[in-house]
Amino acid sequence: MISTKGAPKVGFVSLGCPKATVDSERILTQLRAEGYGLAPDYQGADLVVINTCGFIDAAVEESLEAIGEALAENGRVIVTGCLGARAELVREAHPEVLAVTGPHAYQAVMDAVHTHLPPRQDPFTSLLPPQGVKLTPHHYAYVKISEGCNHRCSFCIIPSLRGDLVSRPIGQVLEEAGRLVEAGVRELLIVSQDTSAYGLDLRYRPDFWQGRPLKTDLEHLARALGDLPAWVRLHYVYPYPSVDALIPLMAEGLILPYLDMPLQHGSPKVLAAMRRPAATERVLERLTRWREVCPELTVRSTFIVGFPGETAADFELLLDFLRAARLDRVGCFAYSPVQGAAANALPDPVPEAVKEERLARFMEVQAHISRAKLAQRVGQRLTVLVDEVEEDRVLARSYADAPDIDGSVIIAGAWDLDPGDFIEVTVTGAEDHDLWAEPVDD
Ligand code: SF4
Repeated sequence: MISTKGAPKVGFVSLGCPKATVDSERILTQLRAEGYGLAPDYQGADLVVINTCGFIDAAVEESLEAIGEALAENGRVIVTGCLGARAELVREAHPEVLAVTGPHAYQAVMDAVHTHLPPRQDPFTSLLPPQGVKLTPHHYAYVKISEGCNHRCSFCIIPSLRGDLVSRPIGQVLEEAGRLVEAGVRELLIVSQDTSAYGLDLRYRPDFWQGRPLKTDLEHLARALGDLPAWVRLHYVYPYPSVDALIPLMAEGLILPYLDMPLQHGSPKVLAAMRRPAATERVLERLTRWREVCPELTVRSTFIVGFPGETAADFELLLDFLRAARLDRVGCFAYSPVQGAAANALPDPVPEAVKEERLARFMEVQAHISRAKLAQRVGQRLTVLVDEVEEDRVLARSYADAPDIDGSVIIAGAWDLDPGDFIEVTVTGAEDHDLWAEPVDD
């Protein structure tokens, strides 16, 4: 353990999505690199940095509350992250904050920390563990491959907060992934706002990795990541034609046969009002073709019901889509307006009671599909990654389960295993979200 005794100490509160978590990890890594200590509570901190989320109104509330709590408990607070892009809102609620910086403004946060809490004169760069500082358990890690987004979905304010797509050169991403795997990471979770668009802004310009040129695009990235001894899971992939090239890589076992693909609706009219990048017909066709190439493909998606202008007929189209697509894992939200989003100006809002009723019907239809799909797994042999070892059971995940958002594979009993171990199991039972399994004895 490296000592940071006597070092100025920063408290850190990380709110929001996995992309915000990656930002937090980067800031924490930089703080440690410069010799700052990290305080586990408000009292032990010389100041507190809060990485906020500003995506929906509830997240804004939560962020403002967290800032208020830190001010009450510690008094010296720097605000960064998505809500930081709306500095006036933060300052209006909490005029005493020391500084407000926007999303992925690492240098601005560090400048603010330097101003209000100067670093030790001679920072020990060796304080930095080679894999950086991570907020996720040590056996999996999020890798952000780009910032921002070129789409302008009408319900979303991310492009106005984070700007247009900026991809990281492929060499940089692979370098980070390689370091993480060397440090013991067993699963890499690839995140961005629009993973399928990776490299578009760079015109897929080649970059160097291990002395060889590689095109900065998703297929080359997936192939190179697939050579690392770790699971590779893709999140936030849109069904562009370029995704077709990834499915054979999944069938070959280079990357996990798993796609997290936010589809949002099944009615072409609603998708057009949402200004979403993909049309329903093509998605169904693609899914069928993908499953032919890679039958074990697991698809997770999210949807919104009650978008302005959604009629009963649109909602039925959505349910038809759901029944036809037979997705494995699905999340659904009742539409709620986000301050600053273009969709707020759309006519025909759906009454709250109707939204709730549609949400319940949607979940009922999907629960049926998910349950049937999980039940098919009983008797199958799966490789699972151990997440947690408890006294009387082990929680693990298969290729079909992303951490935090999907289910678990539960192994009853006490086993001599550690988080990060891969083991073979046979599935013995299925519930609505989780599977039960026994280790294979061979
Ligand atoms: S694809 Fe749409 S929802 Fe996703 S970040 Fe871009 S604008 Fe927002």
